[in-house]
Amino acid sequence: MNKNTPLNPGMSDALELEVAIIGAGTSGLYSAYRLTGSGKSVYQNGRVQVFDMLNRLGGRLESVKLPGMDLVGELGGMRYMTSQKIITALIQDVFEDQMHVADFPMGDPSKLFMYLRKQRFLQNQWNVEQEKGKKWETRYHLNDDDLGCSADQLFNKVIYTVLVNDPWFVKNFDGKVIKKDAYNYEFLLTSRDWNEVKPNLTYNFPGSPYHNCRVNDIGFWNLLKDQVSEEGYTFLSTAGGYYSNTINWNAAEAFPYMVGDFSNAEVQFKTIAEGFDSIAYALANAYMATPKACIWSENKLLRFSKLTQAATHKYELIFLNLRSGTEWKVYANSIILAMPRRSLELLRHNNFFFNAKRNVQRAAALDLNIRSIVAAPAYKILMGFERAWWTQFGIDSGHSITDLPMRQCYYFGTDPKNGHSMLLGSYGDMVSQTFWKVLSDHPDYFQVKATRSVALGDLRALSPVQAKRLMVNEIMDELRELHGADIDFPYVTWYRDWTEDPFGGGYHAWKAGYDVGATMRFMRRPLPTERIHICGEAYSDQQGWVEGAFCEAEKMLQEYFTLTRPLWLDKDYYLGW
Ligand code: FAD
Repeated sequence: MNKNTPLNPGMSDALELEVAIIGAGTSGLYSAYRLTGSGKSVYQNGRVQVFDMLNRLGGRLESVKLPGMDLVGELGGMRYMTSQKIITALIQDVFEDQMHVADFPMGDPSKLFMYLRKQRFLQNQWNVEQEKGKKWETRYHLNDDDLGCSADQLFNKVIYTVLVNDPWFVKNFDGKVIKKDAYNYEFLLTSRDWNEVKPNLTYNFPGSPYHNCRVNDIGFWNLLKDQVSEEGYTFLSTAGGYYSNTINWNAAEAFPYMVGDFSNAEVQFKTIAEGFDSIAYALANAYMATPKACIWSENKLLRFSKLTQAATHKYELIFLNLRSGTEWKVYANSIILAMPRRSLELLRHNNFFFNAKRNVQRAAALDLNIRSIVAAPAYKILMGFERAWWTQFGIDSGHSITDLPMRQCYYFGTDPKNGHSMLLGSYGDMVSQTFWKVLSDHPDYFQVKATRSVALGDLRALSPVQAKRLMVNEIMDELRELHGADIDFPYVTWYRDWTEDPFGGGYHAWKAGYDVGATMRFMRRPLPTERIHICGEAYSDQQGWVEGAFCEAEKMLQEYFTLTRPLWLDKDYYLGW
């Protein structure tokens, strides 16, 4: 995989373009690849160019190697599902000669740990007890009906119960949700079905504070508390691994997300052997192979304005070249803002698009719609160890889960050459990010240490990305508590907090009460009189996934740039609202 894509950190004042794409994350690069590959002359010969403030490609995808190990670690996105057909086709067909598909093993639940309320047990414990006709009891005071369920099973139970209590659902989707036994449920709804269900589903529980509300108008926390009690909610949000799944986001949106990702045993996770960010590089390389293509790195869009009708182009964009501190101008007829909520908010100041005086109502709608989603704080800490201490428990892959602030660790693998091994030592979100944030503000970095295979000089190059000393001390304490074992310190770490600007969070979630379909369509072209478009994961219906970024970009390109559906994409694949 060629990751030496040429980036241009320079400037070319008064550059004239047809389309300026801001953001070299997956949605921006996909847009550049599709526009230049469309065969339309208006998008050829350097008329579409890409800009990013970072000195690398990929946005929230970043695959890295730790010295001493021939293994890839993921600081951002790390896997895809084979049901996600744009990313699957790109990886497995379009760019198959450039990268290798790899399994993303979720490990053996009979070896992996849960550590909740100081109770340590194995992840298959619920199933083991269920097979004996018994119930596994944790230290959560669950409702009698819910006792013995794992978090995944309880999520499914709640979703099933809400669906089958709505007569409208039963009338229209009979047979598409199945109760297999006391603990297991099957959901056969397609994403097209879900898009009919989500806005129409009614919460039909007489006596509940939310009786007769649309599920779309209730928060997921509201609904879970009502179904399983606050204690049950606490169990779900801790045992589920991710706090972000159970924030008070749009309950209707949460349903397919939970069923499709974390609860369905049929779902296969895959990744890319050369690193998940290879998909961004492959798109960038294909774009760069077209004449006069250019990716302007380390150039931050500060603002943009509308030019008079007499001008040759519709918009003037002002970039700050971060190396020289100089501002320069670009002229374009269309702008694609391929970026998340926080990045958009950073552009609001003194910008006609966000404060359109001639279209006050539409500008107010844009303001409201930008705020229709919540950004979820998220961070990762990669750690390199001299040996895979987790093999003493029979663990070779997958993740352990705890309610300690570290929340989850993923066992990423071992380099057979020297035994050096990689752990995603902590992967947390929401409130747990604030626990680590205070420690990350301390001045002292973790001191890397040489191993029998890695010299100190090689490790020192990574000094700026080390976790702070106190963080590593704390994580080691928590790893020891979670595993119930003494564990030696790592020799190197790598910390990334996606809450920092310009991202504002790792992923996004719709708020309750919004018409999600209408908001998604609105964001793809907020002002009907302007050729300014917003795309990416944030305002998609597959939030937290690269596929969401691709689907939004694809729909925007078909609707507003007259592109036709790509031949490599399954003709029946539903792109969503
Ligand atoms: P981004 O990747 O955020 O790209 C936006 C780009 O815009 C950035 O490069 C930014 O620098 C640039 N930018 C912003 N403002 C400006 C400006 N003013 N001027 C110039 N440039 C600017 N997805 C999966 O599919 N699978 C996973 O397993 C998965 N796990 C994840 C785990 C974590 C911890 C995180 C953080 C994300 C994860 N995701 C996962 C989500 C996935 O990474 C995102 O959905 C996807 O990368 C978003 O792409 P995007 O193009 O919408 O935005």
